[in-house]
Amino acid sequence: MTTLFISDLHLDAERPAITELFGAFMHREGRQAEAVYVLGDLFEAWVGDDDPSETGAYVADRIREVVDLGVPVYFIRGNRDFLVGDTFARRAGMRILPDPAVVTLYGRPTLLMHGDLLCTDDVAYQQFRTQTRDPAWQRQFLGQPLAARLAFAAQARAASQARQQGMIQSDRAQFESVTDVTPATVEATLRRFGVDTLIHGHTHRPAVHDLDVDGRACRRIVLGDWYEQGSVLRVDANDRVLESLPFTP
Ligand code: MN
Repeated sequence: MTTLFISDLHLDAERPAITELFGAFMHREGRQAEAVYVLGDLFEAWVGDDDPSETGAYVADRIREVVDLGVPVYFIRGNRDFLVGDTFARRAGMRILPDPAVVTLYGRPTLLMHGDLLCTDDVAYQQFRTQTRDPAWQRQFLGQPLAARLAFAAQARAASQARQQGMIQSDRAQFESVTDVTPATVEATLRRFGVDTLIHGHTHRPAVHDLDVDGRACRRIVLGDWYEQGSVLRVDANDRVLESLPFTP
């Protein structure tokens, strides 16, 4: 039996082919898996569980189908869909895990994160993250009318894109390093949790990194995004394989 890990699908109404690829993936592979872990940014944006989006309804149904067959689906919130709440989780039948979370995979304790907490060089983003994870901020935000929340999300997305473009133009190398994980933070995190395996997404830089932490051989597996293709990590008792999922329109 295989455990599946995906992240950074960034599903929204504008890219229906990716939403369908997710549906096909859950139907073909999810149903036969031991468990499915979605490590954040399942959605491009999420402004509250009361948003009657078709993409949200479709995704909830595809997850529910797998859960009803006895396959647990776990979700860690990303920086785009951090407002996914208990109502949506119940509807989809998925369980929300904290970030970070330690799970035992085939006897091996493994640390799971979305990955944005590892990007500590991006001080402005970490401040935004702290602010928007505050329960009082979230209550205030979710108390606004849906239209106002959707407008805020569109504005935040445009501002984030403009900020990224500015960073790329002023210093490409610095942009690459600021938007990737901070190595010292990765090491400190592996040390704090005492595990030797970390799986995360967020940076859209799929890879398997071997590293040494205080003489311990550790491994950091980074999941890929679902822009040009899908990306999945398949783990079983003997193997961990990170692969891309081609589009089959
Ligand atoms: Mn992310």
